[in-house]
Amino acid sequence: MDNNNSTVNPASRRERGLKFWQVSRRVCLLAATVDISFFFLFHFLGSPILAWINVASVAMYAAAFYALERRQNRLAIGLIWLEVIVHSALGTIMIGWDSGFHYYLLMFIPALCVSSVRVSTIFFLIVGLWSYYVGLDILMWFIEPVQPISSGALLGVHLFNLSIVFAMFAYLSFFYMNMVVSAQRELRKLATVDSLTGLFNRHHGSDLAEKEIARFRRSKHPVAFMLLDVDHFKLINDHYGHEMGDKILAEIGWLIPTQLRTQDIVARWGGEEFLVILPDTGIESALASAERIRNALRSHDWAATTGEPIEVTISIGVSEMCENDDRGSVISRADRALYRGKAGGRDRVEQEEALEQ
Ligand code: GH3
Ligand code: MG
Ligand code: MG
Repeated sequence: MDNNNSTVNPASRRERGLKFWQVSRRVCLLAATVDISFFFLFHFLGSPILAWINVASVAMYAAAFYALERRQNRLAIGLIWLEVIVHSALGTIMIGWDSGFHYYLLMFIPALCVSSVRVSTIFFLIVGLWSYYVGLDILMWFIEPVQPISSGALLGVHLFNLSIVFAMFAYLSFFYMNMVVSAQRELRKLATVDSLTGLFNRHHGSDLAEKEIARFRRSKHPVAFMLLDVDHFKLINDHYGHEMGDKILAEIGWLIPTQLRTQDIVARWGGEEFLVILPDTGIESALASAERIRNALRSHDWAATTGEPIEVTISIGVSEMCENDDRGSVISRADRALYRGKAGGRDRVEQEEALEQ
């Protein structure tokens, strides 16, 4: 089926929550690994204070990781922030501005902008971050590093920090882009899909019908339409309740596409009415498809859905697009055929005569 038949559910939201959780955990692991390397590096470079600062950092990332495991996201984010703010300042004061430890502060700018807090709070925090960054810069103009290292080692630390920040920016940008793309996909789905049946909604079904009609005009390939209406559905609702009625509709929404080809389009046209568009299909094949659907509904094991054997039947009107047709006329001919099917006793397929060419 061409239809996007999966129903709209909160799964993608859960998925995004999971992604945030996974990304944060990965950030903790990556940052802790970097800090462990720094511990050995600064010992080797004769800067024991900085080396032990990294031990404290690893402990904070371990705590953040543990908090994420327990879904204490706020605590975890707080610990990560605190670590980055304190560590970047201490690293800079210890071995100088050229160490590049301050670059890590810049990571907060995109992180703040995509966070879910109020715009005024983001503005306030960014101004605070800017003041902190500029304050650190100015401070380093006036004081000498507390524990300087050789210029070669300083260049090495600088390049290392720069590379890590580049990699983290790239990773986070990629994560945000994925988030935006999946949010867009979800929105598009919400706008085009009927949530009960997972079929296209009426609005999108109309758009797709227009597209097929335009293709018919260009290519002259035939296109057929079916209107389907569940028989005596009001009685089913009255007898089994509205909730069971919904389940039956959802099952029908699943059953119809199973009898069709991938390129056929199925939309929920109204309460218990469906529209099927059959591209590259003449009236004979469309009638055969309609019979298949009718029989599939008849012979379906409804007891699995309702708990007791029940008869669900459907009436179908079929029409084929003609030169003089537009969307309204070809669908209303299918509707007239459907009406004949109802008047003739229901559970049947009817075809409306084509317009004179
Ligand atoms: P007919 O064979 O002539 O089509 O009879 P019918 O009872 O199916 O037709 P009618 O138009 O009188 O009633 C349609 C019923 O479909 C009434 C309405 O409550 C029910 N219905 C429409 N949408 C939904 C829905 O989303 N869920 C449920 N459970 N029922 C619905
Ligand atoms: Mg109806
Ligand atoms: Mg009906």
